[in-house]
Amino acid sequence: MHPSSRVADISLSLTLALDARAKALAAEGRDIVNMSVGEPDFDAPAVVQEAACKAVRGGKVRYTPAAGTASLRKAIAEHVSKTRGVSFSADEITVAHSCKHALSGAMLSLCEPGDEVLMLLPAWVSYVEIARIAGAVPVGAPPRADCGPNFAAIEKCITPRTRGVLLNSPNNPTGYVWTRAEIEELGRIAERHDLWILSDEIYRRLIYEGEKDTSPVSISPALRARTVIVDGASKSYAMTGYRIGFVAAPRDIASGVERLHSHLTGCPNAVSQDAYEAGLRSEPVEIAKMVEEFGQRRKFLLAELGDMGLRTPWPRGAFYAFPDVSPWLDERGSGGFCEDLLEQQGLALVPGSAFGVDTHVRLSYALSLDKIKIATQRLRKFLAQNAKSPASAKR
Ligand code: GLU
Repeated sequence: MHPSSRVADISLSLTLALDARAKALAAEGRDIVNMSVGEPDFDAPAVVQEAACKAVRGGKVRYTPAAGTASLRKAIAEHVSKTRGVSFSADEITVAHSCKHALSGAMLSLCEPGDEVLMLLPAWVSYVEIARIAGAVPVGAPPRADCGPNFAAIEKCITPRTRGVLLNSPNNPTGYVWTRAEIEELGRIAERHDLWILSDEIYRRLIYEGEKDTSPVSISPALRARTVIVDGASKSYAMTGYRIGFVAAPRDIASGVERLHSHLTGCPNAVSQDAYEAGLRSEPVEIAKMVEEFGQRRKFLLAELGDMGLRTPWPRGAFYAFPDVSPWLDERGSGGFCEDLLEQQGLALVPGSAFGVDTHVRLSYALSLDKIKIATQRLRKFLAQNAKSPASAKR
């Protein structure tokens, strides 16, 4: 018996694998600082926790409709309409088991075998694999030097087989937030080449310096009609383990995802649906506090990285920093860098190779300032001990 060709060469998510490795090393007694996984270290808001307990105690633990409860779909439709400034109805919302699940449902609903899908590098580790699972061909478009969108490179990657583009703003792993002008430019490209846009907006609440996130659906009715939003509770409500997300899309795509999920998973977790709805309806105070705390950590971390001589695209959203470590790399690239760093200093990062950019590494600052301080001391020591050449290390 052999695994099918469909799964044979699918890799295990590197972010999750590294997180598991860091936790296993810590369980063995090693002193590890884990900056690998992107997971808020805060509790879910009180109102969310209470709603989850109430659902369990009240017996609201049965199957729900495959697309989610009517009241949650309505709450999400209202939330998306308000935050994106465009009206969505409940039947354009399909609730999913997570943002990842929403994304895979959307990709399966959008792609024919052999369709090319543009990945705007650096791109989160699971996009490529999810596209491949859907039978599509991921095509990476390299970024500008500051990790923002490189429209010339995007145009160059488009062929007659290109069907769609994956947008992620704020971006994982860089924290880059697309400007409205950039989204408009992507929209013009999408219209010119008749592409759909799959817009992963999971980090949209985690945004700093008064920045504003823009969704393609907010630009024009024409772009709304070719955009599928995926979003969820994990990052902005600190609800990672609850596993709850959604698709907001034109009806035929939302219903495609519903029909697909009705066979694959039945329905999203009933308890998490109630918990998410409580969060959506009350705008919990904890969220603003969490964002403020992330903002402080970000400032500290970026100052430290700069002081170490690392060039880092300035992250205006999400909770990642993505410095260029090329002067410290050998032939093993960013993967070797991260292995040595974990071995020598007990600091777990994610290699940029996981995101299609092998010259960088990703640090998640979704952990306490005290831990970030220890992490930066370790990184500083590692860089000093492993400089490939003094001249390049000073850059
Ligand atoms: N999205 C987070 C990350 O990039 C969580 C792990 C994952 O699903 O990749 O670290």
